[in-house]
Order: sequence, then C-alpha cells, then structure tokens
Amino acid sequence: MSPMQRELFEPEHDMFRDSFRRFLEKEIVPRQEEFERGGIMDRAVFARAGAAGFLAMDAPEEYGGGGVRDYRYNAVIAEEIAETAIGGSGLGITLHNDVCLPYFLHVTDEEQKQRWLPGICSGELITAIAMTEPGIGSDLASMTTTASRDGDVYLVNGSKTFITNGINADLVITAVKTDPTQRHKGMSLMVIERGMEGFERGRNLDKIGLHSQDTAELFFTDVRVPVENLLGAEGEGFRYLVTNLPQERLSIAVAGLAIARAAYRWTLEYVKERRAFGQSVAAFQNTRFKLAEMATEIAVAEAFVDKAIVAHNAGQLSAEEAAMAKWWCTELQGRATDIGVQLHGGYGYMTEYPIARAFADARVTRIYGGTTEIMKEIIGKSILA
Ligand SMILES: Cc1cc2nc3c(=O)[nH]c(=O)nc-3n(C[C@H](O)[C@H](O)[C@H](O)COP(=O)(O)OP(=O)(O)OC[C@H]3O[C@@H](n4cnc5c(N)ncnc54)[C@H](O)[C@@H]3O)c2cc1C
Repeated sequence: MSPMQRELFEPEHDMFRDSFRRFLEKEIVPRQEEFERGGIMDRAVFARAGAAGFLAMDAPEEYGGGGVRDYRYNAVIAEEIAETAIGGSGLGITLHNDVCLPYFLHVTDEEQKQRWLPGICSGELITAIAMTEPGIGSDLASMTTTASRDGDVYLVNGSKTFITNGINADLVITAVKTDPTQRHKGMSLMVIERGMEGFERGRNLDKIGLHSQDTAELFFTDVRVPVENLLGAEGEGFRYLVTNLPQERLSIAVAGLAIARAAYRWTLEYVKERRAFGQSVAAFQNTRFKLAEMATEIAVAEAFVDKAIVAHNAGQLSAEEAAMAKWWCTELQGRATDIGVQLHGGYGYMTEYPIARAFADARVTRIYGGTTEIMKEIIGKSILA
C-alpha cells in the first residue's frame, strides 16, 4: 500500500520480524480467544518470549538481554502484534519492553540490576508501572500515595488504578510521595514486589476493549518496602518519569500507527470480496475515497514516526516530538478503525472479525500514556516557552 518505500529497517530486522511472527502464531494467536475471555494472558507466555529473545532486547547480555540498543526491534514487535490482531495480549509485552525496562536499565544501581534484570529478560519477572490513582491521572503531582521512611524501609500507603499488567506483575514501579508537602519535588519511584505484606491487588477491571489485558487496581497498606528498592534518588521521581515518558509515547504511537495500517489492510481485503447492489463494495466511490483517506493518512504518519524512531535511536527525540507522534497516531488509529468497521457493515461489529476488536481496543490509546489534551499541552507549552 505504502506509496513510498520505507527505509527504516535492515535485513536483520526483517529476520527478527519473521521469527517474532512465528512466535506469535504459535504461542498467542491460537490462544487469543482464551485470553480475551479470561481477561488476562497466561503469564507463561512471557517466559517463552524471554527464552526466544523477544524481551529486553536492549538490556546488556551479561544480564540476559539482547545487548542491542535499537528501537527498531521494539517497533517490529508492535507492528507484528497489530498484524496478528492480538492487541490486548501484546500490550503486556510492549509495556514490559518499552515502558518499564528503561527504568530498570537507567535508574538502578548495580545491585538492583543484578537482582532484577535477569528475571525481566527471561520473562520470569513481569513488570508494571503504577502512576495513576483513583483521584488523579493527568495531574500526577497531586498523587496521594505516600512512602514514609522508617529505618531501613519505607512504609507505603495508598492505592493505584488502571494498572496494565496489574495482575501478572511481579515488580511494580510505583510512584509515591516521599514528601507530601511538595508537588513534583516530593515524588519518588520505588519497586513494590509480589508477595510484600500489605500489597493487595483489587479487581481485574472490566473494560470495553483490550479484554486479554489485565488492568488492575493495587492497594498498599503499610507495605514495608526496603530502601534498596528505591529507584535512583529520593525526590527525583518526576524527573525520571519525564525522561522516560517520550519512549512510552513513541511506543503507543508506533502501535497506534501499526493498528491503523492493519485496519486498512483488513478493510481492503473485505471490501474486495463483499458484494452489494451487484458489485463489490470496493467499487463504490465512497469506499475508494475512504480507502484513499486511510492510505494517505497512514503514509504521512509513517514518514513522521519512522523519523521519530531514528531520532530516538540517536538520543534526539524530544518530549514534544514524542507527544506529537502519540496524539496524532492514536487519533489516526481511532479514525482508521472506525472507517474499517463502517466499511465492514454489520460484520464489523462482530468480535470474530479483527476490525471489531481493534476498534474497541483503540479507544483507550487516546487516553492512556497521557491524554490527547495533555499531549497538546506539552506541545503548546514548548511553543510558547
Ligand atoms: C486500559 C488502561 C490502561 C492504563 N494503564 C496504566 C498504567 O499501566 N499505569 C498508569 O499509571 N496508568 C495507566 N492508565 C491510566 C491512564 O494513564 C490515565 O487514565 C490517563 O492518564 C488519564 O488520567 P485520568 O483517567 O485520571 O483522567 P483525568 O486526568 O481525570 O482527565 C479527564 C479529562 O480531563 C482532561 N484534562 C485533564 N487535565 C487537563 C488539562 N490540563 N487540560 C485540558 N484537559 C485536561 C483529560 O484530557 C480528560 O479528557 C491506564 C488507563 C487505562 C484506561
């Protein structure tokens, strides 16, 4: 479809793509219905992904990682998850690789790296990041979960909600207030681990889409978190988040664009086959115009996102550029999946068709990782700074 040749990938990425596709077709695609109905992906899949080299590709080899810092591999993973229509399950993997891993790589000391990275690379330790609380999301600095120092531990009290991998996670990067009198400067990050006393999981939340993804509430009551689980320095949590959020937003943008592309392809195939009024649905001018709109928007977005990936590899992707990619690609994902459903007619509303699930799954990407409005705030503030 793409009118222009993509120049992003090298032959080694194509090989990686083929083997990841085979992995998905063996380990997830046949079980996707089971995971959707159960509201969670089998955690054993993480270990199989780890063993096959699809987790923590950029972690150093000495800890069991792939030892290659190249975000194009992460992009391949997002694109194949979209093409095989396993969005809900796939999100757990991209969150682990793209969103959580950087904190373990860049905000940990050597002892923490040795303690956690091998399990993260092998998939035996599943990760999550918990910022959002029942009372706050966009306005992070107003969070109320506290961590008060008591000798060698912090006593953590509060709750988090909407946490991706919330049920499966073994290590939860948790944003807390170590100084509740401060806003941004009072925030710290610490790792709360499965099994710590006082750490309870709430419901696996019932969502309109992403059914195979476990999104949960987390509760902390006097959880004794050893000071060795603090990430970086006390009071620097907000700075670490700001440093890592561009990669999270790029990840959501890449996935959003990939799903728009998949929606376009599924729709194109469908309208060529489906007949109405004695002709194929593809033959109507309206269909051609809608396909033309999708193809154009996808090609234009692709040029920007591929450039953003190259910039990110060079350490040059700014927060504003990541915000641009995130809001644009997720809004495009929404438009493309909506057009796709419409052109599928009634079948587009049936979950046995991938376009239906993609449509429902898409709605949240304009909300999580920072809403479209917050992305525009970041961009707008940088323009007027
Ligand atoms: C499926 C799912 C998975 C998620 N996964 C995670 C996760 O793993 N970890 C995590 O920490 N969180 C997660 N979230 C939470 C998500 O990041 C938040 O829902 C999101 O940041 C929005 O916060 P909120 O829900 O509190 O909305 P609010 O902040 O209450 O926003 C409500 C509305 O007000 C608008 N608004 C807010 N502030 C402004 C402003 N300054 N200017 C203009 N408009 C504004 C928003 O754009 C939105 O439209 C997840 C959410 C969902 C639904």
